Amino acid sequence: MVNICLVEDEQKVAAFICKGLEEQGYKLKAAKDGFTAKSMLQTDEFDLLILDVMLPDINGIELCRQIRLTDSQTPILMLTALDQVHSKVSGLKAGADDYLVKPFHFSELLARIEALLRRKNVKASQDHILTFDDLKLDTWSSIAERGGTQITLTAKEFTLLELFMNHPNKVLSREYIAEKVWKIDFDTGTNFIDVYVNYLRNKIEKGFKNKLIHTVIGMGYILKSDK
Ligand code: CA
Repeated sequence: MVNICLVEDEQKVAAFICKGLEEQGYKLKAAKDGFTAKSMLQTDEFDLLILDVMLPDINGIELCRQIRLTDSQTPILMLTALDQVHSKVSGLKAGADDYLVKPFHFSELLARIEALLRRKNVKASQDHILTFDDLKLDTWSSIAERGGTQITLTAKEFTLLELFMNHPNKVLSREYIAEKVWKIDFDTGTNFIDVYVNYLRNKIEKGFKNKLIHTVIGMGYILKSDK
């Protein structure tokens, strides 16, 4: 079920959009002003937001800007009146993904919504695979793959590899790794990080020509390509 939040103060327009989209199988929640919209966004999860520019309290563009401070992912479609076409630029600058000028045909609205949701799904399905050189890490299944060979990781090895793959070509200190993977302050008297890095190296480098995790003496470790 796709959840859509509509923020529109004009009752007729809101009813037209809600009715049409519900007939297409979407689930709608409507707010008449920015204040209501903001509280709805705090309690509900939405797949897409439709914001009208002209609202009684906060302007739709400002509302969009505020939403983007904490949510960069959810697609936002802005609705603008014909005489406010200049606001489309401000809307896109504020982080909206698309805009539609009123009055519009329902089929046009539907096409824009479908395009935004498609884009979102393509992004989401790619986001969970991290890639570096010939190494892939599926963050949903926690399974790594190198050169077509699947590599099973323990929970800590997975978290460690994910950390490296999110910071490729950057030296990660033992202190940083301890804090991010083990949520503890690093104690220089222990060598467990070196031990775990070696476990991980064994799994992702054994049988392969190129090393991926390199020791940087006196500093830490770096994920980089040998080539
Ligand atoms: Ca309005």
